[in-house]
Amino acid sequence: MANNLRRIWDADPDAAPKERQSFSDDVVGRFRSGRLVKMGGRETPEALNEWRVTTGDPVVAAKISERMGGTVEEWDTEKEDNLQVLTDAPTVRIIIDPDGVDASFKQFVPGAGLTHHCDGFEYLSPDEDRGTACGCPSLIAERKLAADKQRGPKPSVDITFRLEEATELGRFRFNSGSWKLVEALGPLFAELDNYPGQAVRASLTIENVSYVPQKGPRAGQTISYNKPVVKVFGAYAEAADDLPAAA
Ligand SMILES: [Zn+2]
Repeated sequence: MANNLRRIWDADPDAAPKERQSFSDDVVGRFRSGRLVKMGGRETPEALNEWRVTTGDPVVAAKISERMGGTVEEWDTEKEDNLQVLTDAPTVRIIIDPDGVDASFKQFVPGAGLTHHCDGFEYLSPDEDRGTACGCPSLIAERKLAADKQRGPKPSVDITFRLEEATELGRFRFNSGSWKLVEALGPLFAELDNYPGQAVRASLTIENVSYVPQKGPRAGQTISYNKPVVKVFGAYAEAADDLPAAA
């Protein structure tokens, strides 16, 4: 991972960027904040208020159902994680290993595939372009605007973690394209930097935000959306008594 990945997240300009390595793909399941539902023959994305967990391992699925609610069922996928649990839990306590949070920007163009893959400043791939300036705007708001017009890449944030109450299950992944999560990455990386080389206790939450705009085309209407939120509580090695109670 290029050093300057962190430049764009920096809420604190004094925070020195550190090298972050990408993670192996060896996960037992995925946390998802949405799903595709068939509506009138078309698949439409649906945001969820509680975590949906997918896995290919029946033991993992059963454990998730036991701890987080919901029943184990099969779902329609060609991937290995053919079991899903629609849990009752909007929040889960997790342990994030060092380098467990990773982010990049990607643009896929139909027919052409991955046309832009960068850290926000420099290309990460293909190899021949790696390290050269990619031309993305420096402000996140401008990036979002470009991506909305399909003239720039979208974020891809990966969080790899274990469950605090079932570490033996192995590692899970949550991948998100949320710009709200991207905006929160600066403070999150700054907090993780307080625990160099250490695993941290944290929570991962689907948070609902609603508000009524005063101006604009939707003035007076309630606007509601979900965003993933990561809260860091402290180093994993700390005594459990020192930690705040689960949210
Ligand atoms: Zn770029």
